[in-house]
Amino acid sequence: MMDIKTDFNHIESIYWVFTQLCNDDCDHCYNDSSPFGKRISQADCMAIINNMPEKMDRIILSGGEPLADIKLLHAILDRIQKRYSNKIQVML
Ligand code: SF4
Repeated sequence: MMDIKTDFNHIESIYWVFTQLCNDDCDHCYNDSSPFGKRISQADCMAIINNMPEKMDRIILSGGEPLADIKLLHAILDRIQKRYSNKIQVML
């Protein structure tokens, strides 16, 4: 019998491409990142975090190149820390 997920307030892992900004511009890029890549506003990123499940085991922050959007990355990390304390594994 297949297990059916019913607890949507707990998600094991989220992979989040929060920026398509990248210092490179590779032809093979899987998500069209570049120095002109699309970015999500800080306000929208905060709203996204506010709407994430109550419990998450892991969040993977990706891009693009996350370090190229360092101010936004710091804002996201601060908000995740406030919301989940040390109960989440953060990967970059
Ligand atoms: S995200 Fe990776 S593959 Fe895409 S442009 Fe940047 S370095 Fe290249």
